Amino acid sequence: MYLLHRLRALGMTVQAFEAGTDIGGTWYWNRYPGARFDSESWSYGYSFSQELLQEWDWKEHFSPQPDTLEYLNLVADKFDLRRDIQFSSTVTAAHWDDDTDTWTVTLESGEQARSRFLFTAVGILSAHTLPAIPDRDSFRGPAYHPARWPKTPVDFNGKRVGVIGTGATAIQAIPEIAKQAEHLTVFQRRPNWAAPLHNSKISKEEMAEIKTRYDEIYARCRESPSWFIHRADPRKTSDVPPEEREAFWEKLYAEPGFGIWMGNFRDILVDEKANAAVTEFIAKKIRQRVKDPKVADKLIPKDHGFGTRRVPLESGYFEAYNRDNVLLIDLNETPIDRITPAGVKTSDREHEFDILVYATGFDGVTGAFDRIDIRGPGGVRLKDVWADGPRTYLGWQPEGFPNLLMVLGPHTARGNIPRAAEHGVECLTGLLEFMRARGYARVETRPEEVAAWTETVVKAAAPLLSSKVDSWQTGVNRNVEGRTVRRVLGYNGNGAYYRRKCDEVAAGGFQEFLFR
Ligand code: NAP
Repeated sequence: MYLLHRLRALGMTVQAFEAGTDIGGTWYWNRYPGARFDSESWSYGYSFSQELLQEWDWKEHFSPQPDTLEYLNLVADKFDLRRDIQFSSTVTAAHWDDDTDTWTVTLESGEQARSRFLFTAVGILSAHTLPAIPDRDSFRGPAYHPARWPKTPVDFNGKRVGVIGTGATAIQAIPEIAKQAEHLTVFQRRPNWAAPLHNSKISKEEMAEIKTRYDEIYARCRESPSWFIHRADPRKTSDVPPEEREAFWEKLYAEPGFGIWMGNFRDILVDEKANAAVTEFIAKKIRQRVKDPKVADKLIPKDHGFGTRRVPLESGYFEAYNRDNVLLIDLNETPIDRITPAGVKTSDREHEFDILVYATGFDGVTGAFDRIDIRGPGGVRLKDVWADGPRTYLGWQPEGFPNLLMVLGPHTARGNIPRAAEHGVECLTGLLEFMRARGYARVETRPEEVAAWTETVVKAAAPLLSSKVDSWQTGVNRNVEGRTVRRVLGYNGNGAYYRRKCDEVAAGGFQEFLFR
């Protein structure tokens, strides 16, 4: 949406294609109960318009999905964005014509459009994946993926519900479904570490005060490694005596947001010993919160340390397992054989349900690209070029695909997504402005710059404990054929370095690119 706004401001003719029937992206699709931010709301909104910042009031510190969608609708209306967005328009192919330096985009309907430049703004978690379980479609009741949740709220009252998956999505949805359902069964393959969100309402007075601090808030995000307001504590875990450490962790655990993950000692995500110490602290918290020690033990991850997968922030997740109507099934003990018309058949019995929820995640980062037949010069397919991992320059442009520009492409520095997206839009429209001023019609990467950036990205990932763990962030999704090998999909070094590098490239006249 911001890209559309900026391109229009440059005087470009823009046509956006959107698969949904309306704007909102993640917040359009993910309408499941409990869906909300885990970035502080006031650090998440667009920063480009002072007027918008002053006009919109966040109602909660971590905005729930309906409020966020309302906010995005306000943005679309205020900047009259819908007139250049074609809805219900899934793009199936994008082919480059080397003779005319143009892209031809094909929609599911067969409709085609040609353009000089093609921007992707497909998100990193938009290609949802259903579980590869035999007879998945045989279930006779409704089955939902949270990223394709119905617009009319699902009524769980008096229903027997099964949830497959225990990632960030399920961790938000489970406490809400548990409150309504007659019975809820959660099928867990690998548990995730999670910490409390501590959401609360924002009063009118507090919102008025936040509005006076937007410059400061966004400046803080710009200086932090992942665009969040949280920054690591400069101390190492071992620098601090055990009692003081414990008190520090207690404080972080009691605070709202990602402090426990991103505001922790600086070595917890790179040093095995430091990570083991904080991991034990979080495990202790789970044992304190879950009454049945056997259930608590199942909920404690054994295969990865705290923070080495993206940490879900929860609101009463662990307490949900203290309810009489909630049952946790450990799929390591009793794996799923298949889905049946009545429910889920595990190795020991059949579980019967009225509703199934497949909270089984996404083909992260490259999945949305893979679903479009993108072909560059000579008919070369992006999917093939990226088979072993993306190759880009700064995540702005894939290698060998002229005039294809990516907002939040692989190998950008991400984190707090709207901040990174806004930055990406500014970088790419800056490149376009530069080209227009010089009459260039074609831009592509220089191979040596792609090689250097790819090496930087791979090197930055090497010391991180998270690089040794399977997750969507390392490109592993066993529901997608061929996605069993870890790949580096983002620049996980310091985001401040990335932003400096982007600034330098622009200031130096984009010499890292080839123009014609
Ligand atoms: P996810 O973290 O990838 O979790 C998917 C879950 O489904 C995992 O527990 C996975 O188990 C399980 N699963 C997948 N296939 C399965 C199968 N065939 N059988 C049994 N279990 C299966 O996906 P997600 O929960 O949708 O979250 C993805 C990301 O979206 C998050 O990390 C976060 O970045 C973002 N998100 C953000 C928010 C927020 O901002 N508040 C909320 C929701 C999501 P394994 O672990 O064993 O593979």
